[in-house]
Amino acid sequence: MDQRFQPGIDPPSESGDSLWFAFRRGDLLVAGDSANGHLPPATAPDFPADPVRRQFLGWLDGTPCWSAELPDDAPDPEGGAYVGLRDLWGRLDDVTWVLAGRAAQIVAWERDHQFCGRCGRPTDPVAGERARRCPDCHLLSYPRISPAVITLIERDNTILLARGVAFPAGRYGIIAGFVEPGETFEEAVHREVKEEVGIELAEVRYFASQPWPFPHGIMVGFTARWAAGELAPDPSEIADAGWFAIDSLPNIPPKLSIARRLIDDWAKRRHETTLSDDASW
Ligand SMILES: [Zn+2]
Repeated sequence: MDQRFQPGIDPPSESGDSLWFAFRRGDLLVAGDSANGHLPPATAPDFPADPVRRQFLGWLDGTPCWSAELPDDAPDPEGGAYVGLRDLWGRLDDVTWVLAGRAAQIVAWERDHQFCGRCGRPTDPVAGERARRCPDCHLLSYPRISPAVITLIERDNTILLARGVAFPAGRYGIIAGFVEPGETFEEAVHREVKEEVGIELAEVRYFASQPWPFPHGIMVGFTARWAAGELAPDPSEIADAGWFAIDSLPNIPPKLSIARRLIDDWAKRRHETTLSDDASW
């Protein structure tokens, strides 16, 4: 997220224009026709039911932003719709889409931490912090974030692409998996790749990261080079894996994902390499 959004905990005292991210069962309430174009989040007076809870998020371009949880049985809105975050990518501007993901995670966290996970007492909000505290045993709960690593692996002029057993038909992606307790990101990269396709890596380098609100992840992207071993996919996770050249790529992930950014970046580097090679002649 760029500097247009400033996070905050304590809401402003004056009431004025606000931006609302209201969810019913994880789907965002949007104004307008769900089939068309840019969809601004619906504003509070348009809510079809009173929110169960609401949270102040901060300011987007100076406008106060809120998240809200609508009841599971909230009726469909007049002149609006509930739409899943994945389906909104490219239809909200990028900053608003990322903010909607932040809102979805905070709504889900507050919903799921109404009671202490240790002793079961109802929890209280903590002033000035995004946290809830048990009044009895004082256990603090913060929004949970689960990091996962995702790695683009190059071998000569090809990259490794794999089909997860649960992928849509024909879709290939790159190797990813959750970080385990006690592990560094780099150790998770080596372990996941070894477990899923049986190869060794060299030159593991950080690329970029992306919040992934499905439901509370952050994808940490790496590039690496094949070092040793032949592909031996784990059949419980990987239906197929192979090395693909730039002119024979299969169906790859959509542009909202860091997987696609990694592949696009590789394609760009390949293209530039080819161009500079040609230029040297
Ligand atoms: Zn407790």
